[in-house]
Amino acid sequence: MSELLPAEVLVPSELPDATFRRLFHFLPIPTLFLSPDKRVLAASRSFLERYGLADDQVLERPCYEVFHRGNQPCPASVCRFPAAMQGHQGLYNIHQYRNSLGRLVVEEVHLSPCTDQQGRVIGVIESVRDISEAKRLENSLSETNELFSCLLNSMLGVVVAADLQGRILFVNHNAKPVLGYEPEELLDKTLWELSPHEELKRLRGILDASRGPVRGVRTQVTKKEGETIPVKVNLNYIHRNGVPIGTLGIITDLREMVKIERHLNSARMQVVQSDKLAVLGRMAAGVAHELNNPLTGITVYTDLVRESLPPDHPAQQDLTFIAEDVDRCRDIVRDLLDYSRQGSIELETLDLSKVVEEAYALIRADSLSLHLKVITDFASQPLPIQGDRKLLRQVFINLISNAMDAMEGDGKITMRTYEDDRGMRCAEISDTGPGIPSEHLAKVFEPFFTTKEPGKGTGLGLSVVFGVIARHEGHISVKESGPQGTTFLVSLPASAPKTLQDFADKINGGEEDETIG
Ligand code: ADP
Repeated sequence: MSELLPAEVLVPSELPDATFRRLFHFLPIPTLFLSPDKRVLAASRSFLERYGLADDQVLERPCYEVFHRGNQPCPASVCRFPAAMQGHQGLYNIHQYRNSLGRLVVEEVHLSPCTDQQGRVIGVIESVRDISEAKRLENSLSETNELFSCLLNSMLGVVVAADLQGRILFVNHNAKPVLGYEPEELLDKTLWELSPHEELKRLRGILDASRGPVRGVRTQVTKKEGETIPVKVNLNYIHRNGVPIGTLGIITDLREMVKIERHLNSARMQVVQSDKLAVLGRMAAGVAHELNNPLTGITVYTDLVRESLPPDHPAQQDLTFIAEDVDRCRDIVRDLLDYSRQGSIELETLDLSKVVEEAYALIRADSLSLHLKVITDFASQPLPIQGDRKLLRQVFINLISNAMDAMEGDGKITMRTYEDDRGMRCAEISDTGPGIPSEHLAKVFEPFFTTKEPGKGTGLGLSVVFGVIARHEGHISVKESGPQGTTFLVSLPASAPKTLQDFADKINGGEEDETIG
């Protein structure tokens, strides 16, 4: 074997010559033995092969010449040799360079002190480990990880992975905007804690029972601050080799969608309501036509009979009752005509705050005897709208009267006007009455819906309001209603609504039925 060894290998005198040479020659890892002055005393065959060097290009040369082909020692800041000579263990350097094929080579160069029997450091063993492949794998793994993490974070929804006990192992960045938690804060929580009444645990039960993914289930989750929000959940098991090892959930925030759905529903309700009211309007106009003439007849003949009887005649009292009831019927006919918009229309530029003020002034007398506090909170600037003064006044008279009725003489009415962020001119009439029961909310704008006792309400007030506001291309809604009271919100556009203009032209152009109104 010894003839295979390079003749020039120098052996420290303390080491047995043959053993040392053989050992070094066959070391599978490229290795050098360096003297205390950095000269190469021995090089393994694997080292010479790795770098394509011959013995005489290595032996007796300083290590920096062998490694870096330079004649200057490496800078003290990077050279680990002195530390190794002081007996430090586990020292290494990383070398990176491109080989002749242009491939990046990464080497870990380890330095270990070598001592004699007295423990004195007599040299340093320098071995080279090629970690290029490991580095490449590490880089591509971290690139893959980064790609996955970008993908998961770009997904529209909270992606959450949990173990089979529900302990959260991973959650993407959407945890913050949707749930209010930083992802790290969720790592010591369970998936079940994210939903009220353990809804998500129930879904996991469905997952168990169905043995397939749970898709698009609408439920709720609880935000960090305690608020519950509507979400859609997809849930599935994470499998490894066919065995479930965890649960994967995708939680989609439905807040925006629910808002849009609500708007759509209310718009749909408005259309249905408008259609229904249009039909009822035509019917109301017909009924008013038919009633007007007999009512005039009853009034005329009642007056004739009253005049033909002495004032103290016992029938006079009954005739007064008849006249009063006829008056009530006339009021109803007037309301019906308002509702079916058969009255005349005059368009003009109005200040919405003024219209509300005028309406209140007209019924103010009714409130004086009551314990009502009236507060006005009008916009500081005029709120110009195009509309019919009489009709719009009627709108606010009806709303304020209803507010007064609701409070039964004791409470606070607030009238507020402002311009909203879409440029609509708004008026709110609020009261501190008992509120509208939820089962009545959909009905209050329907004609003849009333909860007032007979003689007190016809159920036409809000349907007239609805009709007038719709004709002005505005919007009326119950903004809120509960035990603290009710707020009606009227919003009107600034410009003249086309439909109203057409209507006014038609009516004022002489097409109005003279027998009505
Ligand atoms: P009427 O006043 O003749 O009953 P409306 O159409 O004006 O007819 O009102 C219909 C119903 O809506 C009322 O009978 C009442 O039940 C309810 N309502 C209207 N405004 C209010 C209010 N501010 N507070 C509570 N309920 C109200």
